[in-house]
Amino acid sequence: MTDLLIATTNPGKIVEIQDLLEGLPFRLLLPADLGIRLEVAETGATYAENAALKAVAYCSASGILTLADDSGLEVAALDGAPGLHSARYSPHPGAKDADRRALLLQNLARLPQPWLARFVCAVVIAAPDQPLQFAEGECHGEILPEERGSNGFGYDPIFYLAGLGRTMAELTRAEKNTLSHRARAVQAALPVLRGFLEG
Ligand code: IMP
Repeated sequence: MTDLLIATTNPGKIVEIQDLLEGLPFRLLLPADLGIRLEVAETGATYAENAALKAVAYCSASGILTLADDSGLEVAALDGAPGLHSARYSPHPGAKDADRRALLLQNLARLPQPWLARFVCAVVIAAPDQPLQFAEGECHGEILPEERGSNGFGYDPIFYLAGLGRTMAELTRAEKNTLSHRARAVQAALPVLRGFLEG
């Protein structure tokens, strides 16, 4: 089995990525499994740059094949905010996902609906002494003024998929993994990952 480090400590991302890679003959490892604790400053100007910073940091610390993601929510009426800052949108230390959702709805309240939005995800694969490999995925929807559903994480309860008539948090994990930005990015990275299995 080839070891693959999932370079995140976000529990929501971990379960999704583990499901997305199920069936491939990788032994999936988390930073805690290797005793690795890193704070990677997300100083990049793009999701891909931030994912690359995380992939390189965790690959250097572990010495093994590493997958990192960086993702965010972009709302058109807010000129793409919270975007790269989605995880840190609230200025309050200790703020939780619910606080960030509330702040987003507060900032949107005076603006006309629909509040069109998209989730974006960049995945970067790093292996020792090899060039970085990049993949991206997007998922389009709109922000609802009230929360619906309790699955998923982050902004899922207010991210509405009009075609399905449900928010992301009303989808099962399996359903979210057929259409999410992260699912699409990991899907796009599968040929690269399979290359490491054959190699
Ligand atoms: P980062 O990739 O660690 O910078 O964090 C991205 C942030 O964007 C998360 O903490 C969430 O707030 C948000 N986000 C990214 N992907 C999702 C998703 O699939 N559902 C809901 N929120 C998400």
